[in-house]
Amino acid sequence: MLLGTLEAGGTKMVMGLADEKGRIIRSASCKTRLPEDTLPDILTFFQGQRLDALGIATFGPVDLDPQSPSYGNITNTPKLTWRNFPLLNRLREALRVPCAIDTDVNGAVLAEVRLGAAQGLRNVLYITVGTGIGGGLMTEGQLVHGLIHPEWGHIILSRHPQDPLTRGVCPYHDNCAEGFAAGPAMQARWAMPAQDLPGDHRGWEMEAYYLAQICVNALMTVSPQRILLGGGVMHHLDLYPMVRRHVTDLLGGYLSSPALHDMDRFIMPPALYPDSGLVGGALLALLATR
Ligand code: ZN
Repeated sequence: MLLGTLEAGGTKMVMGLADEKGRIIRSASCKTRLPEDTLPDILTFFQGQRLDALGIATFGPVDLDPQSPSYGNITNTPKLTWRNFPLLNRLREALRVPCAIDTDVNGAVLAEVRLGAAQGLRNVLYITVGTGIGGGLMTEGQLVHGLIHPEWGHIILSRHPQDPLTRGVCPYHDNCAEGFAAGPAMQARWAMPAQDLPGDHRGWEMEAYYLAQICVNALMTVSPQRILLGGGVMHHLDLYPMVRRHVTDLLGGYLSSPALHDMDRFIMPPALYPDSGLVGGALLALLATR
């Protein structure tokens, strides 16, 4: 069996071929430009391959309601040229194989549960912290979509009392996770990119405080058995112990579970990063063959 996978991102597209276990055999990438310029590069990679199915793990927002006439379309993305682009339909019409689509972060959580850092678990949250913040959620073994799909980057957080930013940098919200804790927020707050921030800079504790709020809100609402934190900002590995400590502080001893006594396993890096989304696309393709 040969599975096609596409991790569709706002800055680059990653295409891959995978076997029936979701193992990537070959991959390539291209820059995300205008849809009509980018699509031929994607199709060139897949055409001539005897694909059994294609799985798409995409940036969003995306319409994931199978009953909707715009199912599989990118919706109100800030990337205006991609707004309302029928990504699923265009690929399905061109490749003529069964196709499945989900968010990149749902793809990532699926991959981590099947092949990565959350194997054997049925309730897992994957959060990526980079130029934006997104999250994929699996609950009772099912990827969660809901009304649209969860937007973990835009949940409302408490502002850190010493935060030099009086409001977050999100154009929609004063106090959301992405506005306070994504890379551009760190850049705006400290006038340098996150990767240049010295290891002992107080900005990391502040970052951990915000990320811990996401984790605690998740614990109190959807009760994951494990939270995986990935993305470019998490390359600063000292963040993990800081986030774990802030989570413990914010919980205030309220929740009782053996899993929370082992914070090093409760909050972990993803194992497949940076390929979580690409592998997820392959696993979505596998689902489309059934
Ligand atoms: Zn926001």
